[in-house]
Amino acid sequence: MVVKQSSFGDVTTGVTMEVIESPAKMQERAEALRLAGHTISLVPTMGFLHEGHLELMRVGKKHSDKLIISIFINPSQFAPNEDLGRYPRDTKGDLEKARKVGVDFIFYPSVQEMYPEGYQTNVRVKGITRHLCGISRPGHFEGVTTVVAKLFNITKPHMAVFGQKDFQQLTVISQMVIDLNMDIQIVGVPTVRDPDGLATSSRNKFLSREERISARSLKKSLDLADEMFRNGDRDARVIKKALESFILRHPHTEIDYVTLCDPVTLEDIQTLTDETLVALAVRVGTTRLIDNCVLHRDPDQIISEN
Ligand code: AMP
Repeated sequence: MVVKQSSFGDVTTGVTMEVIESPAKMQERAEALRLAGHTISLVPTMGFLHEGHLELMRVGKKHSDKLIISIFINPSQFAPNEDLGRYPRDTKGDLEKARKVGVDFIFYPSVQEMYPEGYQTNVRVKGITRHLCGISRPGHFEGVTTVVAKLFNITKPHMAVFGQKDFQQLTVISQMVIDLNMDIQIVGVPTVRDPDGLATSSRNKFLSREERISARSLKKSLDLADEMFRNGDRDARVIKKALESFILRHPHTEIDYVTLCDPVTLEDIQTLTDETLVALAVRVGTTRLIDNCVLHRDPDQIISEN
């Protein structure tokens, strides 16, 4: 479905949502908003909106008076063997959901407008992209940082909201913003889950009923890590092994990685400290899912040990 620049009114709220395809037009609008003294927040998405996306939007809306979301399936963050071709789309449903949340602008560009002929520039964050998904998805984060830098320049936000479900992405973007002196506040929102514990994701649509049951093992394994940590286990190798064997007990699962690492540097750790990131990427059937949690030592425990 092609959406030209258009407005969608909401009779109940009287609020109008504008859909803009052209980067130049979006930039013009954003500049006008800034000149008029508005604060702008941006929520970048690839569409097929779910409750996780909507939560990011609510946070953006709370902290600014104009909310822009982008819907763009960015080809440069997909490797040739990945699921770009089958990535789910639902323009009509997305517009309806965004309007209900009170989005002011949807930036909805074409690939051609974002990467016109002669395009030559990429943004690359080095160190922290070498870990976790950076290993199994080479080039992925370069695609992400490049498109997000472009989206920042086009929508001129004061604040941009990202999900902690993509923990490494949030870390990489925060690093880019620091390194390139971008004057944008990055906000991370806790992972939104379905009632069965599975983190909401556009890709969940691909799971069969049986696979969906197996996919619950991701969150359950994070809970297991938390339990082991609380029980005093500190050996990363032991916890990793326990999580791997727990996940693999579920049909159709194949582990890409189970990693225990420092939540700032993303370097692997051997012994758990006060804060440890547990990050997972698991293929369930043909669908690659990620999830994570940060294990925190209970502050009371630290005081009582000191
Ligand atoms: P995507 O459309 O998958 O690229 O995601 C767009 C944004 O939504 C990213 O900042 C994601 O981290 C965030 N997001 C995706 N799923 C969730 C979730 N279950 N909870 C919170 N944020 C999410």
